[in-house]
Amino acid sequence: MTQLDTRSVHAGRDDLTALGVHVPPIDLSTTYPLPGVSSGGASYDALALGNGPDGGSLVYQRLWNPNVARFEEAMAELEYCEGAVAFGSGMAALSAALLATVATGKPHLVAVRPIYGGSDHLLSTGLLGTTVTWVTAGGIADAIRPDTGLVIVETPANPTVELVDIAAAVRQANGVPVLVDNTFATPVLQQPAQHGATLVLHSATKYLGGHGDVMGGVVTANAEWTAKLRQVRALTGGLLHPLAAYELHRGLQTLPVRIRAQQASAEKLADWLSTHPAVDYVYYPGLPECDPLGLVGRQLAGPGAVLAFTTAGGYQAAAHVAASLQLITHAVSLGGVDTLIQHPAGLTHRLVAEEAKPHDNLLRLSIGLESSEDLTADLAQALS
Ligand SMILES: *Cc1c(COP(=O)(O)O)cnc(C)c1O
Repeated sequence: MTQLDTRSVHAGRDDLTALGVHVPPIDLSTTYPLPGVSSGGASYDALALGNGPDGGSLVYQRLWNPNVARFEEAMAELEYCEGAVAFGSGMAALSAALLATVATGKPHLVAVRPIYGGSDHLLSTGLLGTTVTWVTAGGIADAIRPDTGLVIVETPANPTVELVDIAAAVRQANGVPVLVDNTFATPVLQQPAQHGATLVLHSATKYLGGHGDVMGGVVTANAEWTAKLRQVRALTGGLLHPLAAYELHRGLQTLPVRIRAQQASAEKLADWLSTHPAVDYVYYPGLPECDPLGLVGRQLAGPGAVLAFTTAGGYQAAAHVAASLQLITHAVSLGGVDTLIQHPAGLTHRLVAEEAKPHDNLLRLSIGLESSEDLTADLAQALS
């Protein structure tokens, strides 16, 4: 297979030259002409069961869309998985994975904290019929029960970018499928399926889109799981819009260069913040104390472009920094070309149980493509 940079540019586009076009045509059809009642019915059955169109009619957008399929094909290639299923958001993708798990008759989940606050809340409420045992990375094996259908891990984890050894989690899961939320690493830095994960999930809203203007989610997996997820999507309707799929597919073309450039700035900022007197502690996988298992270079190709830090002056100081920045935008979300800062305890992780809530002097930074000197200057004035 070609190198990742090459695949990012070309994946899901193999047929374009034969079509006589340079970029994918956008197909907004909600319905498709049917050649006949019985052949149309056969196409409907195949798509509703989670299969591809196989030359037949595409029938209806909730069952299949060519732009969504191109993005999925590209993601499957980048994640070294047999297939991918895309959704209208990362939470819709996680919901589909949970519903598919419940349908296997094993609704108990084992999940490693910390994870994204929305995921934490969805699991904690049991809204989709799941129950959860929260564990630390070393506690997975002891929490597995006969009715455990899925183990959920996020690495680097939101918001403190803590790392989990995926292969070790898979060994502890002892045959129970492991889902890894790979949103922070992206396939540029980490391919969880290569370490034994069964399901790889992304909030495509973040790095894959990369410009803060499109929401989406995607799960990559083997053929058996992608068929189940397609069936859940067809029935529950958490679709990715074709225009969003077009944007996400285009976003993949610049993903490796964006990640490397944003990461280079994040490394400088993490070092600079580590020595700042107004900063208590910096969380960043590139700092040796944050990677005790030595996963950077082994599982994760680089430390990424998200970091978090606590302020020495407590909550008041953190709130002051968030409100005083001028170049850096105070906003939730991450992974875009502009640098964002947010207060996890007050925002993204607001609904997380007290015992697992981030510290109230913690701020999370997603580093963009601005000059690192300008970012440092802005942080310096806000911290002073
Ligand atoms: C944002 C995020 C999600 C949720 O994705 P949405 O696209 O906002 O629905 C899930 N996991 C992680 C790690 C995230 O950062």
